[in-house]
Amino acid sequence: MAKYLFITGGVVSSLGKGITAASVGRLLINRGLSIRMLKMDPYLNVDPGTMSPYQHGEVYVTDDGAETDLDLGHYERYTGEPTSQKSNITAGSIYWDVLHKERRGDYLGGTIQMIPHISNEIIERIKALEADDPDIIVVELGGTVGDIEGLIFLEALRQLALEVGRDNSIFIHLTYVPFIAAAKEVKTKPTQQSVAKLREIGIMPDVLVCRTEVDLEREHLNKLSLFCNVPKDCVIVEKDVETSIYEIPLVLSRAGLDEIILNRFRIAKPAKPLTDWEKLIETIRHPKGKVRIGVVGKYSELQDAYKSIYEALYHGGYASGYEVEAVKIAAEDIEENPAVLKTVDGILIPGGFGSRGMEGKIRAAQYARENKIPFLGICLGLQCAVIEFARNVCGLKGAHTTEFDEERGMKTEHPVVCLMEEQTDVVEKGGTMRLGAYTCELEDGSKALEAYGEKRISERHRHRYEVNNNYRDKLESAGLFLSGSNPDIGVVEMIELKDHPWFVATQAHPELKSQPVNPHPLFKDFVAAAIAKLKAE
Ligand code: GLN
Repeated sequence: MAKYLFITGGVVSSLGKGITAASVGRLLINRGLSIRMLKMDPYLNVDPGTMSPYQHGEVYVTDDGAETDLDLGHYERYTGEPTSQKSNITAGSIYWDVLHKERRGDYLGGTIQMIPHISNEIIERIKALEADDPDIIVVELGGTVGDIEGLIFLEALRQLALEVGRDNSIFIHLTYVPFIAAAKEVKTKPTQQSVAKLREIGIMPDVLVCRTEVDLEREHLNKLSLFCNVPKDCVIVEKDVETSIYEIPLVLSRAGLDEIILNRFRIAKPAKPLTDWEKLIETIRHPKGKVRIGVVGKYSELQDAYKSIYEALYHGGYASGYEVEAVKIAAEDIEENPAVLKTVDGILIPGGFGSRGMEGKIRAAQYARENKIPFLGICLGLQCAVIEFARNVCGLKGAHTTEFDEERGMKTEHPVVCLMEEQTDVVEKGGTMRLGAYTCELEDGSKALEAYGEKRISERHRHRYEVNNNYRDKLESAGLFLSGSNPDIGVVEMIELKDHPWFVATQAHPELKSQPVNPHPLFKDFVAAAIAKLKAE
């Protein structure tokens, strides 16, 4: 039977609970244990697929096509374990299923209540992860203890812990211990209150992980231990790190967190150094230089909207021992004048929906092509590069995607990007989203093949529109290299320019599969090309 590790958050949000959970996952894997991770989001959306990046940051997509919370991205980056449909549950999806069952008559005329119906549904979803037979299931509860929406989830965790017993469950509470500058004092009271809230529900935290900006003295730790009823050696400090968020597994390992967890579960597995992570931090601490990559997007002011893109860029830099500075460029600002692009060594256009900033992105692709700046286009980024090439190289003046026809109030004259059903010679029809992992076959002589080192690759997708196969000949004869296609449905997956140092675009989202200790090949080669440009100057 699997053991359960529950992570809750107290005092304030944005403490980096996802990163802490992911780091715990890394530590457990390092001890030779198999894990599954789960994020529970107490909001009422059924999934985050339709939430704006302003609300929620990026939508993270799994191999099996789930649109999930961006914390799953942290899980995969830190643990290297793929997540799935089962790894993210929202309150909305729980209520949805219970209400459907009620309508279907599954409850045989009973009264449907929060307890047991909603709580049982939550417990069942958590237990579903046992199917893969992991040693430990790590469950992170979103939000902060005390939130109304989180209550029923905490109740479910309490029940589940009671059922599996104390040796098989552990509660880790991530909390905030502020330093009040005016009083020059560290305050433990918010943590005491947050733990009191947990106890009210019947949960006793076993470990406190204290987020803080300053060093905590023994007296503070003793106080936290005494008033929160947590053994002294289980009060752990997670002070802000200077170098990188990738240092957190090292911080928690030094504090002995994996030892505490294994002792509690009575699992005897030898400690192993986190060698690759130590090396990674050394690289990050002493970079050979800095390279600037312009990310031309619609949500450039938001930290989390392109989370995986930024991380994958940093990873690409680590591979060459360089620091990547991701320069956030608002696409709208360069529609008239792309001069700012002169200051970067590489240009990336991320995925996106909606027409705002579209012309700026197309302009950026043109700038990269004409000035031989290394370029990586992701999903909408590929579509922009194709539109640009069609307009300015093939001479198809009205070339565009049909995605914005309605918004623009006109029919695109040359629909070089359109829905599959608007094309004539493709196998699959339907305007639904292409979600999750799809295969791509790479052409010989392509930069993509050089990067991946294998002809058949698989990447995750999240889009509706495709390069219009009816324009294949026109694009190819003008020199666009269609360097990857889907072997089953025949759509274009990758494009390149041959007469260019490095210009590659993909219909997929390779950023979702990059890890700091295992950078994604496309990001690695893209950043390497930008470094080569920088060095040549
Ligand atoms: N909006 C485009 C489509 O649906 C691109 C989506 C994306 O970049 N993820 O095809």
